[in-house]
Amino acid sequence: MSPIAVVAQPQATPDVAPTKKVEEQQYHTSSPVDGFTLTTYPEDSHPINLAWGAASAEARGPVVASKYRSGLDKHNTIGAHSGSYCVYHALAVGSKQLNPEHVADYTNSQPAFSIPEQKSWYNEKDIVAMDPFGHLTPYLFDEVSESENVEIRPTIAITKATMQLFELKDAVSQGRLQVDGKIVKNSNGDVNVSKVAVEPVWYLPGVAERFNITESELRKALFEDTNGMYPELITRPDIKVFLPPIGGLTVYIFGDPKFVSDPSKKLALRIHDECNGSDVFGSDICTCRPYLIFGIEEAVKEAQNGGSGVVIYFRKEGRALGEVTKYLVYNARKRGGDTAAEYFHRTECIAGVRDMRFQQLMPDILKWLGISKIDRMLSMSNMKHDAIVEQGIPILERIPIPDELVPPDSRVEIDAKIHSGYFTNGTVMTNDELKNVQGRSWDNFE
Ligand SMILES: [Zn+2]
Repeated sequence: MSPIAVVAQPQATPDVAPTKKVEEQQYHTSSPVDGFTLTTYPEDSHPINLAWGAASAEARGPVVASKYRSGLDKHNTIGAHSGSYCVYHALAVGSKQLNPEHVADYTNSQPAFSIPEQKSWYNEKDIVAMDPFGHLTPYLFDEVSESENVEIRPTIAITKATMQLFELKDAVSQGRLQVDGKIVKNSNGDVNVSKVAVEPVWYLPGVAERFNITESELRKALFEDTNGMYPELITRPDIKVFLPPIGGLTVYIFGDPKFVSDPSKKLALRIHDECNGSDVFGSDICTCRPYLIFGIEEAVKEAQNGGSGVVIYFRKEGRALGEVTKYLVYNARKRGGDTAAEYFHRTECIAGVRDMRFQQLMPDILKWLGISKIDRMLSMSNMKHDAIVEQGIPILERIPIPDELVPPDSRVEIDAKIHSGYFTNGTVMTNDELKNVQGRSWDNFE
C-alpha cells in the first residue's frame, strides 16, 4: 500500500483531494512502525489561531509547528522547524541522543539589537515567506505557549559579530577602506557587523499569489513534486502556513542597524545567492565571491559615509538547483566547448530551466527590514531588480561588478548573463560575439 493512500478523510479541497480512502486500522496493522499519530485528520485537531497579516501580533497568533506537549493536536503550521535541518533533529531523536520532550530555555538569547517595527509586519500581502514576529516569538507568545501547552519556537535570530576577510585587510592596506575604529576596527580590516538569520515560513495563499497561481495549484505541486512528503498540504486546507525544508537567509548589516529603514540615509545593498564553490572555496568559474566581497566592501564604505550597508545571503546553492546539478552542468560545459553562447543552454539541458531561484519571495526581507528605497544596488541580476521594483521598492542606481574583479574563466558566465538581460554599463554582445567568449577547457588542467 502506498503511504500516500493514508491521507484519508479529506475536507474542502475538491480540486486537489485524494480519492482513495483507507481505514486507519488497516494502515496501523500493515505498518512497520507502531505507536504514532497521523496529523491528517482535521476533526481530531484544534489549531491555535493564526491570522496572517492581522493588526497586532496578539491577533495574528504564533506559528506552532512543534509536536511537543499538545502540539500535535494544536499545530497550525505544516512542516517542521529549522528548514532542511529538521531531518537531523529527527535523527537525533531517533538515535536517542535528543530527548523528544526537550524544550528550549531561551534565557539571554533575545535579539542583540532591535529591528524597528514596520507596517509591512501587519498585512497579509507584504510579507508571505517569513514570520515577521519570528525573532520575538518566545516573548510575545510565552503566555499562549503556557496556557495551550505547546512549544513555540523562534524562526529569526539577531546577533552581532566581527568579520575578518583577507580581501578587506587588503582593502585597508591598499587605502580603499579607512580604519575608523567603529565600523572598520583596525588595520587588520576587522569589521563590525550586525546579523539576522531567518528561516522560511510560507503563508501559502500569499506565496501562490506571488507566482500567479492558485493556492490549490501551489499545494498540489508542493505535495506531488516532493513525492507526498507533506500530506497535510492536501488534507488540511484549514492550515495556511508551511515551513518548507529549504535553506534560509542571513542579513549582514554594516553601520547602525536603525539606518537601514531611515529613508534619509543612503543604502547600499547586495542580494547574494549561495555559491559554495566560489564563496568559500574560491572556484574561478563564476563571479560569486568577487562580487560578494565587492558588495561587502561597498556596503562598509556606505556605512562609513553615514549611510547603511546591507548584504543578504540566500541559501540557494547553484541557482537553487544544488551542487550536484551544478557540477553536471560544469562537466557538460567543459566537454562541449565552453562558450557564452551555450552557457544557459547547458543548464537547460540538464535542469530543464536556466534558473530555479525565483526571486518573487526575496523582497520580503527588504520589507521586513523597512527598506523603502535602494540607493546603490550591488547586483546586475534583472530577476532580482524586477522582483524588488515590482514589490514597490525603487532602485536608484545599479552597480555592476568591476571588470578587473571578473576571473578570466568566468567571462563565459557574466557575458552570457549580460546578453540575457543582466545590467551593464558596457556593451551587450551579439550572439556571434558570445560564440567567441570561451572558457578554459579541461585540457588546460593537466
Ligand atoms: Zn558561483
